[in-house]
Amino acid sequence: MKSFRYIRTKTVEESVTFLNNNRGKAKVIAGGTDLLGALKDGILPDYPEVIINIKTIAGLDFIKEDSNGLKIGTLARLVDIANSETIRDTYKILAKASEAVATPQIRNMGTIGGNLCQDIRCW
Ligand SMILES: Cc1cc2nc3c(=O)[nH]c(=O)nc-3n(C[C@H](O)[C@H](O)[C@H](O)COP(=O)(O)OP(=O)(O)OC[C@H]3O[C@@H](n4cnc5c(N)ncnc54)[C@H](O)[C@@H]3O)c2cc1C
Repeated sequence: MKSFRYIRTKTVEESVTFLNNNRGKAKVIAGGTDLLGALKDGILPDYPEVIINIKTIAGLDFIKEDSNGLKIGTLARLVDIANSETIRDTYKILAKASEAVATPQIRNMGTIGGNLCQDIRCW
């Protein structure tokens, strides 16, 4: 892997500022299960100079239901979604889909945000 600057952020605002200040040169990292593999395999056309860790932001891993429906924070892990009572009871297909992803190790680290934003793993 090539070297990169690694930044741990504490708030969404801080992450956005770092992204803005490093436009086109920075990547967000959550669980890292997709991004680190892509970097190791040299899949991305542009190697990031800066990696911004958002897993250090508290409170983005929520799973909650209110009168508007289900809300899932970007840092909720696939294992949390698969095991959530609310999701298992009311949104079964989502629990089943999360449970079907990859392996337990990847579901333990991988977040829903990272799953939705994962890159195409292909040259
Ligand atoms: C061996 C293997 C098997 C897999 N099998 C499946 C499968 O069967 N089905 C399936 O759906 N997926 C599968 N995946 C993909 C897996 O679900 C993802 O790797 C995981 O969910 C990514 O989450 P992460 O938190 O680790 O993301 P990261 O690796 O941290 O990030 C992934 C991408 O998303 C971006 N990103 C992350 N969070 C945000 C955010 N909040 N805002 C903006 N960008 C963000 C990152 O910059 C990066 O580009 C597999 C992966 C592997 C390695």
